Amino acid sequence: MKQFQILYKDDKGFLEKLKEIKEWRTSHSGYATIFRIYSEDMELEHIRHICDCLDNEMPDALYLGCTSNANIMDGALSDTKIILTCTIFEYETTQAKILQLPFTEENAAKDVAALKKHCDANPWVQAVEMHATIMDMSMMEFCNEMSGLREDIQVFGGGAFNPDMDDERALVFSKGNGFLEHGIIFLLLGGNDFHTYSTFISGWKPLKRKFRVTKADREILYELDGKPALDVYRRFLNINKNERFFSNTLEFPLFLEHGDIDILRCPLAVNDDDSLVMSSDMQEDAMVRLAYGDPETILASIREDGQKIADFGPEVIQTFSCAARKAFWGDEHISDETILFNSVAPTTGFYTHGEFIRIKGDMLNFNVTLVLVAMREGEPPKTGEKVNFAKAQIDTDEKIPIIRRFVSFIEASTAELEEMNQKLALNSITDGLTRLYNRAEIERRIRSALDKRTYQGARNNISLIMLDIDNFKKVNDIYGHQEGDCVIQALSDVLRKTTTGLDCCYLGRWGGEEFMILLSDSNADDAVTLAEKIRMAFASVSYETAGCQTVSIGVTQAKDETADALYNRVDKALYMAKAGGKNQVVRLD
Ligand code: GH3
Ligand code: MG
Ligand code: MG
Repeated sequence: MKQFQILYKDDKGFLEKLKEIKEWRTSHSGYATIFRIYSEDMELEHIRHICDCLDNEMPDALYLGCTSNANIMDGALSDTKIILTCTIFEYETTQAKILQLPFTEENAAKDVAALKKHCDANPWVQAVEMHATIMDMSMMEFCNEMSGLREDIQVFGGGAFNPDMDDERALVFSKGNGFLEHGIIFLLLGGNDFHTYSTFISGWKPLKRKFRVTKADREILYELDGKPALDVYRRFLNINKNERFFSNTLEFPLFLEHGDIDILRCPLAVNDDDSLVMSSDMQEDAMVRLAYGDPETILASIREDGQKIADFGPEVIQTFSCAARKAFWGDEHISDETILFNSVAPTTGFYTHGEFIRIKGDMLNFNVTLVLVAMREGEPPKTGEKVNFAKAQIDTDEKIPIIRRFVSFIEASTAELEEMNQKLALNSITDGLTRLYNRAEIERRIRSALDKRTYQGARNNISLIMLDIDNFKKVNDIYGHQEGDCVIQALSDVLRKTTTGLDCCYLGRWGGEEFMILLSDSNADDAVTLAEKIRMAFASVSYETAGCQTVSIGVTQAKDETADALYNRVDKALYMAKAGGKNQVVRLD
């Protein structure tokens, strides 16, 4: 595979380059020839002109391309608005085929079906490179369908873009198929001597704090942890709803857990209701974390994955890198990520609106990611010095230590806050003296158990046990309030011990020396058995000063009724136990 890199500056230079390519083809055995065109020039006429030149000068060559946010040439950000690569295959066995289709959410599945048909009809297909206009589209169905492609086919590519990040207009085009503002191009590649290896680099690191996606629809992220999604950015990063929102959040995208892979999603804009427009789909119930770009992590990924690419021995390296990465690094530093690859093989590509790669059969739509594709024909070269990626360097300048310090500050304070929140949450539902649930919490649990039966059709039995210490006023009067407290604590210990290991059993202090036990999966018979056990256990405890004490207990099972009706009956049962002579269990149905 021979690669020519072309910076389009004017026709004269371009035509000279094409002449050089044609000469090379005649003096070597060159077969299928493909041009890729990346343009941050949005003038259709300029792109069309280049396509016309190719049609005229090299009518047998294929070409495909798209508009981009910026271009990568020779492993670095290019300042030329239109760049081309010309790949000439040197093996007759290598084949290439272009499929260009209109692309909208409605016909995504149909497009994939068409692609599948081509892949089935052409068993030589090993890889599918794709360029697509994807703005404002949910890619969920497309990715699901693509995952059903023949398992051994690699897929990679990028979303066409615009040099203006706020401009949604993008184009894809290919030989003989015209220009589409809503289109997808599949370049099918393969053959016995064709080899490709694709991988991705993120380098963004998640902060520890997790949030649950409680409401999302396609790429609109409505709520995190039940609150408007913007809250997370406002609260933790002081990023507000204003015209700088996109550039402010760029450094802190969200990590979305997708199986064992974390996928980055960028917030693009805020809606009036404080929901966020994300760069791609969000899944309800998924966990997300704030992420920050960490140059050291990026460097580590480049060293590791770069080495794998170098070891593959490519003749050509393609890159699909997120425009957000360029915004994060700035034009000055962005090339640090990709430059070393050019020492391995000619490295070209563009800054995308979204990156695609198929991992273990699963088609993934990334953001903020760098997808790398290595290609070669024949065996890897045995000779020649391999590029040593361990030496990869990134010029990190002083911005980095500041990010680091802030991150450790954020990590430390979120850890502290989380611990404190947990304690607060526990305290708000716990009774101070007995450490059992407080009245509000045990009532909430009773109501929720009843609701589950009423609204969710649960069929479990619910029973309540209500207890009141007998003649407790006397304990206070004779031995003092403190000893009274000890007796209350002793009863709560008895309750804990007698119910250890019991599922669906909740202990609460109802008030004073009264307690309530919720059994959310027991009938009245079982509740009475437990009540008897408690009564006897408590009566057998002897207190140093107060001696033996007893408890009266009411038991009842819930019917289809309100919580208040249930409380009334269990209270009545308890009253009957008192009236009947105390130290006894009374059941009332
Ligand atoms: P009965 O057998 O009919 O229940 O008689 P009793 O004396 O226990 O009567 P009652 O239940 O009406 O009395 C409850 C007493 O418990 C009144 C109150 O002073 C005392 N008390 C309530 N909360 C506490 C507490 O937290 N600590 C202590 N030591 N006493 C409390
Ligand atoms: Mg009482
Ligand atoms: Mg009492």
